[in-house]
Amino acid sequence: MTPRALYVHIPWCLKKCPYCDFNSHEAADPPFDAYGHQLVEDLEADLEDFGHQPLKSIFFGGGTPSLMPPQALEPLFAALDRHRLINAATEITLEANPGTRDLGHLAGYQALGVNRISIGVQSFNPASLAHLGRVHSVDDARRCIEDAQTRGFEKLNVDLMHGLPAQQAEDVLFDLNTALSMGISHLSWYQLTIEPNTAFYKHPPTLPDESSLETAEALGLQCILDAGLAQYEISAYARPGHEAEHNLNYWEFGDYLGIGAGAHGKLTIDGRLMRTTRTRHPNHYLNRDSAHAERHYLESATVATECLMNGLRLKRGMSYSLFQERTGLDPHTVRREQFARADALGLLEPDRFQATPLGWRHLNTLLEMLV
Ligand code: SF4
Repeated sequence: MTPRALYVHIPWCLKKCPYCDFNSHEAADPPFDAYGHQLVEDLEADLEDFGHQPLKSIFFGGGTPSLMPPQALEPLFAALDRHRLINAATEITLEANPGTRDLGHLAGYQALGVNRISIGVQSFNPASLAHLGRVHSVDDARRCIEDAQTRGFEKLNVDLMHGLPAQQAEDVLFDLNTALSMGISHLSWYQLTIEPNTAFYKHPPTLPDESSLETAEALGLQCILDAGLAQYEISAYARPGHEAEHNLNYWEFGDYLGIGAGAHGKLTIDGRLMRTTRTRHPNHYLNRDSAHAERHYLESATVATECLMNGLRLKRGMSYSLFQERTGLDPHTVRREQFARADALGLLEPDRFQATPLGWRHLNTLLEMLV
């Protein structure tokens, strides 16, 4: 049986960041209680349609999930218990913005069963935080990490960005060293990209040039490895045993239910793969206009491409047997049809879908060959 996870989207933020293209909305006083009940309806509708299966992991993403009072999440956790979908081993992550730092919330999430916190720090440099329009200070970020550690969250991720306006290599190293010196177990280290439909797209900031980016990236990678974290995906680094189960499930093409405004799901049904997408705007979602907005099955060519777009992001790639298990397709045929050029260039290891060191350095090229 394909493992199954659950993604829960919380769509509100204190303020929209200028680089953000997520489904996030500024709101002074979001209707969290009503939203919590709608999440339960979504979950139970999905269970009825897709069957009960224990969850490998749950991820509360956003938006800013840490804005949501724990009490508003109680009905959802009660439903998860009632349907026996979680146990003590289920990884349950909640994203926290240091600007919403609240010890009561943190204790409440923990009491509900949240056992992993992902903190959106982005930078420890006040100027960079200002460029990014973040609502929190450097001090908020440090204290948010310390709060989570004091509460005993051993599984702790910090998000950091690089390639920021006016950022030099030494700034990148300062951010990394600050996070790593705080004993975190997982790091997500992303390059800022300018996405359509963002304030940065309309008014682009000046970003570091390619050569500065490359230098900072090489120095940054070494800094992370020296601190004892291993890279296991393009942007993900972890101490041994602290890889994010939830993200691994995406990259290994597992199934997931998606509940909440705009949430996506992926399910294996009688050997076919279905995508689900819920109504995007929180108001429409709460009005229950079309909570199950869209469902469609994937064509087999799309299945192969999507699976490999995910699997090749992992350093260890994907074995042929896992590929076959998740897609029902013959890996040898897919390799012949989609990777003749990549093989000729030496970008893939033999007998599995895994980038060679050369392929890893040119991963974008390799992934583009799939599309
Ligand atoms: S806090 Fe996160 S989700 Fe909210 S606007 Fe900023 S980047 Fe987007």
